Amino acid sequence: MKLYSNEENKRLISLLTAKGREPHSVIITGERGSGRRTLAKYLAASLMCESHSGKPCGVCKSCRMLEDGNHPDFITAKANENGNYKLDDIRALVTDSVIKPNEGELKVYLIPDFDRSVNTAAAVQNVLLKFIEEPPPHCVVILTAVTKEIFLPTVISRCIFLGTERCTKQQAEQWLTEKGTFGQDDIIRAVSCCGGNFGRCLEFLEGGELPAAFECAKAVCAGMLRRDEYQILKALFMCDGKKAQLRQALVFLSEILRGACLISLGTVPEDCCFESGASQLSSMLGSERSEELYRLVTEYIGRLDSNCNQALTVNSLTGEIFVRL
Ligand SMILES: [Zn+2]
Repeated sequence: MKLYSNEENKRLISLLTAKGREPHSVIITGERGSGRRTLAKYLAASLMCESHSGKPCGVCKSCRMLEDGNHPDFITAKANENGNYKLDDIRALVTDSVIKPNEGELKVYLIPDFDRSVNTAAAVQNVLLKFIEEPPPHCVVILTAVTKEIFLPTVISRCIFLGTERCTKQQAEQWLTEKGTFGQDDIIRAVSCCGGNFGRCLEFLEGGELPAAFECAKAVCAGMLRRDEYQILKALFMCDGKKAQLRQALVFLSEILRGACLISLGTVPEDCCFESGASQLSSMLGSERSEELYRLVTEYIGRLDSNCNQALTVNSLTGEIFVRL
């Protein structure tokens, strides 16, 4: 089982899985696409591997079943289409946990994308609390989320935290090439936009809103460099009626402005989606105005999230960007 980067996590997992020190409740945090599930699976494989060597051997029955996605003791909870977990499903999971493992010594429950369960997060944690406090000795529960903010203090105090570690662009390129599904030019385009975030690179290559959002952000950037208000407005209206796409375009734009700010301060941004644009904006705006625009765009992402009218938001944002150029 290959886990790119995450050297610190591998070291920690190896220490934790040394016999007798297995963690029973783990929270894995990291941005979407950063490999939280892969890290969870690596941890589960390390815990359940018959070699007990602190890492998955890759050849024992347990490792092979995990790799093939059919290990009966690795159980992933399923949320509904809106990302919310149903209380009954979580209660069933807790009930199931008292039953001994089918294969080895441990059962691992994965509850992914917990922060998406906004409507039921608190109630689900209350159901899980007892389980997290005193899990049956053969049980491990792993939750994943973007940040730990959604978790109750009583849960936080009983869990071990692991954060996904950033991968490089080269690693993302290698991973995508190994898949054998995509052309090299497309891979380079995806990686230059999404950096070392494997999930985002894959999403970019599979179509959807990312490529269009990226084009929109680049067009806004070009309009800013020309100080052309109409071009900025036209670019933002490329996402007319597609809120998720507009939001993603603003996320890209905020990354470019953050990059511009860092370049002005003499730092090389680690993972900027459009380095040449950031560099030109940096020469034009300097660090203070780049930062001001970065904050502005971030604020507008918040407005979109609070359901402001999209056309009005676009008009108002264009005006506010223009006066700062
Ligand atoms: Zn193994």
